[in-house]
Amino acid sequence: MAAEDIGLSRRVRGIEPSGIRRIFELMATMEDPINLSIGQAHYDPPPELVEAACRAMRDGHNRYTVTQGLPRLNELVLDDVERRLGRRPETCLLTSGVSGGLMLTFLSLLDPGDEIVLPDPYFVMYKHLATLCGAQVRYYETYPDRDGERFRIDVTQLEELVNEKTKIVFVNSPSNPTGGLLDRGEVEAVARIADKVGAYVVSDEIYDLFCYGEDYASPLQYSDRCIQLGGFSKSYGIPGWRMGYATGPANVLDALKTLQQFSFVCAPAPFQHALLAAMPEVDLAPYREQYRNKRDRLVRDLHPSYALSPPEGAFYAFPRLPRTAAGEPVASDEFVAAAVAEKLLIVPGKAFSARDTHFRVSFAASDEDLARGISVLNALAERFGG
Ligand code: PMP
Repeated sequence: MAAEDIGLSRRVRGIEPSGIRRIFELMATMEDPINLSIGQAHYDPPPELVEAACRAMRDGHNRYTVTQGLPRLNELVLDDVERRLGRRPETCLLTSGVSGGLMLTFLSLLDPGDEIVLPDPYFVMYKHLATLCGAQVRYYETYPDRDGERFRIDVTQLEELVNEKTKIVFVNSPSNPTGGLLDRGEVEAVARIADKVGAYVVSDEIYDLFCYGEDYASPLQYSDRCIQLGGFSKSYGIPGWRMGYATGPANVLDALKTLQQFSFVCAPAPFQHALLAAMPEVDLAPYREQYRNKRDRLVRDLHPSYALSPPEGAFYAFPRLPRTAAGEPVASDEFVAAAVAEKLLIVPGKAFSARDTHFRVSFAASDEDLARGISVLNALAERFGG
C-alpha cells in the first residue's frame, strides 16, 4: 500500500531511509566482513566509565533527572568547553545524543519556509531533520579544488547563499564523512557571514576529540549566536548510551529545554551519573593517538592508488573513486558491489552528497581489518584503472 494510503504524514513521507542502514543490513548476511563502513569507535568504553554506570544503577539513579540534566554535569561540560576553547558558553543542556540535540535545535529555530545552509558532503541526518521542519535546504560545497587538497569552505560561495531567510548556517568540523577540519579563518568567516543576516551558527562538534592538527577552532569562539552540539558517543565509545550536550545562549537553550521536557524528557539518568563520576578520571588522549596512527597508515597505504585529502579529524577518509583508463569515473554502485564481493564494506559518497564521485572509508577498525581493507582497496584500484 502506498505511504499516503496508510495515512502517514506528508512530513514523514519526505524522508528516505539512510543509505548507510542498507549497508548494515547487508553486513548481517555476511561472514567475517571487513567493516570499514562503521560510524562508531571500534574500542570498548573505558572500564572506569562502565563501572561507574553499573554503580549508578545499583545506587538507585534510575529515575528522571531535571530536564537540563544534573547541574554538576552541566558545569563539568562547560568547564571542559572553556578549558579547550577559551570561552565559556552561557548555558548547557544534556541531550539524548547529538541526534537529540539536532532535533531540538532544528525544531526550535526553523519555521516552514526558513532556510538552512548545510555543507556538501554532509552527515545524512541534517537534511532530513531540516525537511521535517519544512525548511529549505541550501548547500555549500566543500570539495577540494584539486585532488589531494583539503576539503574547505568557499567563503564567497557561502556569502552568496546566505540571505535574510537564512536561519541556520551549519558546520560540522571535524566532518563526517570527509575527515576535514575547518581552519580558524573559515570558522571566523562563517560566524561573520551568519551574523550579518542574524542567523545562528549550529556547530556539530561530535568528533572534536579526534583532531590530528594542532589548532581546533569552534564558531563559539567567534559568535554569540552559536549553538554547539557535542557528544560522548564517539569519544567514549558509548553510542548506545545516547548521551550528548548542547551549549549556547540561554534564551535559545531555554526553548530546547522546553521541547526536551515534552519529548526526550532528560538524557539517561544512570549514564549522566556515570559521566559525572568518570569524566574527570578518564584520559581520552590515548584513543586519539591510536586513531592518528590508523589515519597515518591509511593515508600512506592508499597512496598512490587513490586521490585522497588526508583526514585532519574524525575517523573517516573520503577518497575519490578510481577513474577508468578512458578517464571516466567508475560507477559507485559497481565499485561498492565489487568491494562487497571481497567482503569489504564501504559507503558510496552519494549517501552524503549530491555528487557521486567519492566513497567513505572508516578507520575505526582493528589494525588487522584496516590492513585487510586497504589491500582490497588497492586491488580494486588496479582493477578499475586507479
Ligand atoms: N553528528 C555526526 C556528524 C555523526 O556522525 C553522528 C553519528 N554518526 C551524530 C551526529 C549522532 O551522534 P549521537 O550518537 O550523539 O546521536
